[in-house]
Amino acid sequence: MSNQTFTMIKPDAVKKGYTGAILDHIIKAGFHISAMKLTRLTTEKAGEFYAIHKERPFYQELVSFMSSGPIVAAILTKKNAVDEFRNLIGATDPAKAAEGTIRKLYADSVGENAVHGSDSDANAKIESDFFFTEKERF
Ligand code: UDP
Ligand code: MG
Repeated sequence: MSNQTFTMIKPDAVKKGYTGAILDHIIKAGFHISAMKLTRLTTEKAGEFYAIHKERPFYQELVSFMSSGPIVAAILTKKNAVDEFRNLIGATDPAKAAEGTIRKLYADSVGENAVHGSDSDANAKIESDFFFTEKERF
């Protein structure tokens, strides 16, 4: 169990103006923001980030969506961060997400689902390293 996870506020939520509300939700849930940036993924970088899903039918759509506009990337710190954050964001499909979760509150579809959350400590490290140098972490 590690104390860090990685998140992105996805292009749909940034476009709709939900960045502040989502960050407020995350902070109020007890996460410390250890690194954060507003940036945009190229299609190549989005493809690399989601390479694990290459064979899935939604891969091209996912890559195109994730490179369609700016995202907010962040490293979050809290005890048992990966599991705690997955609970906070809710199920991948917002229609199936529990009441009060970020995806239930701010997402409309299984593809455009407002936020990313790492699924394991190993992936949290890989994903954090994808976006942030050591000097960008506090
Ligand atoms: N996704 C999609 N269609 C699906 C399943 C997933 O477009 O049927 C997208 C969605 O944006 C999701 C991402 O692919 O967040 C990664 O899928 P994963 O199964 O890892 O879900 P997550 O870990 O984000 O809940
Ligand atoms: Mg996942």
